[in-house]
Amino acid sequence: MKCIGLIGGMSWESTAQYYRIINQDVRQRLGGVHSARSLMWSMDFGEIEKLQHEGAWEALADQLVESAVALERGGADFVLICTNTMHRLADEVTAAIRIPLLHIADPTGEAIRAQGIRKVGLLGTAFTMEQAFYKGRLAERHGLDVIVPDADDRARVHEIIYTELVAGIVRPQSRQAYAQIMARLADRGAQAIILGCTEIMLLVQPGDTPLPLFDTTTLHATAAVDWALSGTADGAKIVSK
Ligand code: GLU
Repeated sequence: MKCIGLIGGMSWESTAQYYRIINQDVRQRLGGVHSARSLMWSMDFGEIEKLQHEGAWEALADQLVESAVALERGGADFVLICTNTMHRLADEVTAAIRIPLLHIADPTGEAIRAQGIRKVGLLGTAFTMEQAFYKGRLAERHGLDVIVPDADDRARVHEIIYTELVAGIVRPQSRQAYAQIMARLADRGAQAIILGCTEIMLLVQPGDTPLPLFDTTTLHATAAVDWALSGTADGAKIVSK
């Protein structure tokens, strides 16, 4: 089994979900008490969030590169950045290491296309919803037409992430707000919703919208298990889920 390198702590609320999903998935596929071989570097999200809102992307790149290099030196076979937003710096990370980066948009795009869906609504931080690094990859590599909420709704989605979800606060009013925003995306033709922030799965459940949900945390973590078990003796034991 390959060793999964996790760049986490952004926030730890979602990194804990990665750790759980990865280990549960390995146990389900390999049976017994098997669990994943992994290394984690966990950031102080208080520092990260401040730098994000200051637009200090070079300083953020330094932190991500430092963690990726440390994971490579420690023996990781590949690396995950356990947040959608910080994939803005995926190119800088890729350039600094020899091991591969499993980009969160790729298993997401593949899962959506496998369902025959083309037009999809994206929920995430303002950085993810408004900048090109994420929507662009989904469009160019996966042929998706990605739409985002209007400005007021984007501000609300972003605020709930940064003031509640990353602090582990889950409020029914916020779930209702997300449900209304997803309904407005459906009215504009979205056939599905991407939960494009790794904490949103703590708040939004399949019953909150009639649209299919694509949870990036689960898709990314499961793809990591695919990679960890591929091309190895253990990979031969993968059973379909
Ligand atoms: N975990 C979130 C994401 O997937 C937001 C926190 C961050 O800015 O990294 O985008």
